[in-house]
Amino acid sequence: MEARRHVNDATDLRRAVKGLGISPGVALGPVWYFKNEIGELPRRTLAPEAIAPEVARLRDAFREAAEEFRRQRDANGAALPEHERRIFDSHLAFYEDELLKGSIAARIEKQALNAEAALADEVAHLASLFATMDRLFAERAADVRDVGNRVQRVLVRRQQEALAGTQPVILCARELLPSDTLTLDRSRLLGIVTEVGGEASHVAILARASGIPAVSGVKKLEALLPPGGELGIDGRRGRLWIAPPPRLRGALQRSRDHFVASRRRLVERSVAAVSRDRDLSLLLNIENFDSLDPALLRSADGVGLYRTEFLFMGRSTFPSEEEQLAFYKDVLAHVGGREVTFRTIDVGGDKPLPYLVTPREQNPALGWRGIRLTFEWLDLLIPQLRALLRAAAHGPLKILLPMVTTVEEVTRARALLAELIDDLRRQGLPHDPRTPLGAMLEVPAAALAADRMAREADFLSVGTNDLLQYLFAVDRNNLQVAGLYQPLHPVALRLLRQVIAAGAAAGKPVTVCGEMAGEPLGTLALLGLGLKRFSMSPVHLPEARAIFRHFTAAEAGALVGGLLDLDAAADVEALLRAAAAERCGQETLSIFPR
Ligand code: PEP
Ligand code: MG
Repeated sequence: MEARRHVNDATDLRRAVKGLGISPGVALGPVWYFKNEIGELPRRTLAPEAIAPEVARLRDAFREAAEEFRRQRDANGAALPEHERRIFDSHLAFYEDELLKGSIAARIEKQALNAEAALADEVAHLASLFATMDRLFAERAADVRDVGNRVQRVLVRRQQEALAGTQPVILCARELLPSDTLTLDRSRLLGIVTEVGGEASHVAILARASGIPAVSGVKKLEALLPPGGELGIDGRRGRLWIAPPPRLRGALQRSRDHFVASRRRLVERSVAAVSRDRDLSLLLNIENFDSLDPALLRSADGVGLYRTEFLFMGRSTFPSEEEQLAFYKDVLAHVGGREVTFRTIDVGGDKPLPYLVTPREQNPALGWRGIRLTFEWLDLLIPQLRALLRAAAHGPLKILLPMVTTVEEVTRARALLAELIDDLRRQGLPHDPRTPLGAMLEVPAAALAADRMAREADFLSVGTNDLLQYLFAVDRNNLQVAGLYQPLHPVALRLLRQVIAAGAAAGKPVTVCGEMAGEPLGTLALLGLGLKRFSMSPVHLPEARAIFRHFTAAEAGALVGGLLDLDAAADVEALLRAAAAERCGQETLSIFPR
């Protein structure tokens, strides 16, 4: 393969750092650290010439935090009781305190430390001093921590905003939360490198959706990569090259150009192509339309998964029913009369929402997430369901429930919908009372009950990202056990066959909307299992189309039928890969994930 040869030829592969390739493509650019509000603060040693600008950055952040705080006091202060107003004033004194700023600046200067780390150390020092004093001073410990947090937030925000004004970069972060990707200007991201996040993690999904090469599982990033230094990455093979020498640099550039060109050709063919099986639906998984190629969108049959939680992130309050109605109508208009399946808000687990404070859980993935959470937060779920029912009067819209475990949960959602439809009718508000309600099968117990689920729901959608994590008991973000996450394992394929058959028997449509639906070998396996509706990240659509161009459902069925009794995922993968290589040849193999 040409792309591979370019990099291999350039020798010096010994310099490559290994990680896990989570989004294909090659990138070359300067390292830029991203810091989210949740997680560890960056700690770096500064070059001598960086010290004075760092002190200025700290002082600016104090000034901005103080102004923000003063604005809040002026807006709310009058309504507050006298003692709370006094607290505001004492906080303001902290922001203006030269002694505090001076001792943090001294840490920056003496220890050549970045502002975030110097601030954190000084705040910890003062807070522990105050805590040992009497009660009055103990309260000061909380005050100084609060002030420190606000200044820290300004520093983080400023750093994010700085990205907007700089050249394109390779973003490096310990972990990227789904909400972080909203505040980033993705058009400036050449690549992404993280410590945390497996192939089915949200960072991987978002990177692939935006066509950004990404590598994960790289330990001790900050110690490894100097900020601003040049970095090369190969997101298919999971490799990093720090400060690549000129020869390797050239090879990486050629490899990147080759990848971009072959992808463009595939996209063009895909947009023009029709599949050989007319009864297949090719749908997209979408969070927003920002980086979506309009031609790709037009070529799809609709949106099979709209992750609405992204509408709730990147803001400080929940959107109202009217705001949501306008938004959903807008999405329908964008998709131009084709179906859109909106999933109700799916937060909790690895998708925290900054303003939704939930108790700390020991096992968030097994905890309060999806409809488990929204059933108890009806003031969140009801406006969303009402907005969706109302938007359904403007286009073909379906409602999908995330993280369903039992049939009773679907029954309960249906009863709630019936009540809301009644209310809307009484209020004379346009809506569609026949809006289909679907269950997302992500919990093995729900997938094993697919026949019952199919009776209660209007359609089923299999979320293989979560289903496989629960099936194999593998955290989708934990690279230590990533090898056990095996979409092509015969056990997974047998379970999926059962779900697809249950839907067919009940006459209810079944979609697979996890990443597996769009990963070429997964697409092929699912086609062989009888799946008709595939919903995938837009980046995968061209590859899936190539699979459909080269295999009919019957051909894929004959191929996959012989694999279900095997023992190992590796055997299934090898046989599928060989068959795909024979039929599709170079067309798709150059961008196969591995
Ligand atoms: C899934 O779990 O497969 C899915 C599509 O949902 P998400 O990736 O948003 O959890
Ligand atoms: Mg899921």
